[in-house]
Amino acid sequence: MKKKVLLLNLPWKEKYLREYFCSKISKARYYYPPVDLVYISGRFDEAKYNLFLIDSIAENISPATTIEKINNIAPDYIYFLAGAASFREDKWFIQQLLLDLTCSPKIIGTGDIFRELKEESFNVFKWIDAINFHFTTADVISYIEHWDWKIIDNMIYMHEDHLVVGKEQFDKWIRNVPIPKREMFDPKNYSNPFAMREYSSVMMTDLSCPFSCEFCPYSTINYSVRQIDDVIEEIKILKTIWINDVFFVDATFGLQKERLQKLCNWLRQCKMSRSCFWRVDNIDKEKIEMMKSAWCHTIVFGIESMNQDILDKYNKKTKISQIREAMDLCKKNKIRAGWTFIVWLPWDDEKSIRNTIFLSKTLHLDFASFNIATPRIWTHFRKDMIEKWFANPDELNLESSKQKTQVWNSHNLPLADLVRLQKSAVRSFYLNPKYIIRRLLGLKSFYELKNSIFEMYYLFFK
Ligand code: SF4
Repeated sequence: MKKKVLLLNLPWKEKYLREYFCSKISKARYYYPPVDLVYISGRFDEAKYNLFLIDSIAENISPATTIEKINNIAPDYIYFLAGAASFREDKWFIQQLLLDLTCSPKIIGTGDIFRELKEESFNVFKWIDAINFHFTTADVISYIEHWDWKIIDNMIYMHEDHLVVGKEQFDKWIRNVPIPKREMFDPKNYSNPFAMREYSSVMMTDLSCPFSCEFCPYSTINYSVRQIDDVIEEIKILKTIWINDVFFVDATFGLQKERLQKLCNWLRQCKMSRSCFWRVDNIDKEKIEMMKSAWCHTIVFGIESMNQDILDKYNKKTKISQIREAMDLCKKNKIRAGWTFIVWLPWDDEKSIRNTIFLSKTLHLDFASFNIATPRIWTHFRKDMIEKWFANPDELNLESSKQKTQVWNSHNLPLADLVRLQKSAVRSFYLNPKYIIRRLLGLKSFYELKNSIFEMYYLFFK
């Protein structure tokens, strides 16, 4: 009989997004299918396991109901996603699960928290069997199927009373990625704030990022590229399961022009509308026209700050002039532009934050996200904050996007002032009458209207 594998996104009342090596909390209604579980589903499916999914957050189910569902499935393996943002809650849930399980599955963890903890994971999350660092490779299948206790890349696992430690290994190419079993991820349970059509999903064409911005977890992971033919095959399958809007979660989309051209040609033919993240220095007239003709409706840029000194200090390698040029290109081509900002990096003060907020309102953006700086796992920013005694190396509950905890101390701005600034930034951006009129006039579908109303409601009232 085929072995049962359960993919599990752990429950909690907060909407934790734990995926893609960077966990955080959703600040509004949006909640994407966790890309780690999406891609590992293809690996398990290819290896002919009997697959189940419980995404407790997307399904909005409690820890008790989650455990009950797990016991009903009685899996042979549980592959669970945990995060630094939800570290304490995840640790509590795994302990509870182990007490209440009526079956004896092997338990394998993945997520950014395990990149930080490595071998220590087995002391913190007691009685788990293994951890996996890479969700697109078949390393976890090797662990399950080859019982010769060899070292496996991207896996650390318990064998009898000792650990077998494999290295984190991100190669230049990600080859032969099997088609994910997307039909398990019911689109009704997820929402994408940028989607123009009802059924949307997430995809990736590469993994991590070749740039070295010092606050970003992707600067600590080797950049890998997927074979373009694999990507095209996956898009074909998406169309057959009624997905017609896709969010490319690539840390920065379309870095290589030739690949972008090939991908856009295909996206144009299959009329797949989409959104993606991009860098302002990677955009030009030719690329943006290519994107527009291939159904791209939204580009989100990681702007971080409108203070050039801060961009330089954190090795962002972008210029304020490029930000303005990118904005102009989007406007000319009628592509919606979203910006993400990081406020409260060291050297940011009230004046520079207010300047960033003011410019966000004057440049006619379509979306803006104001994030409080977080010293994320392995980043240079974290190391620097720890060295300067601004951050506690033992504090692993890294979540500051909803001001739940003060994860580091600033010498120049108390947390209460920062929270006030962040809230005022969100209010003054989204409740600006000119912005509201512009958004209403730009609506293209009833679904977009409905989606925007829900997002606003959750942003301000939840
Ligand atoms: S370009 Fe974006 S994704 Fe890449 S390292 Fe910088 S912030 Fe991270």
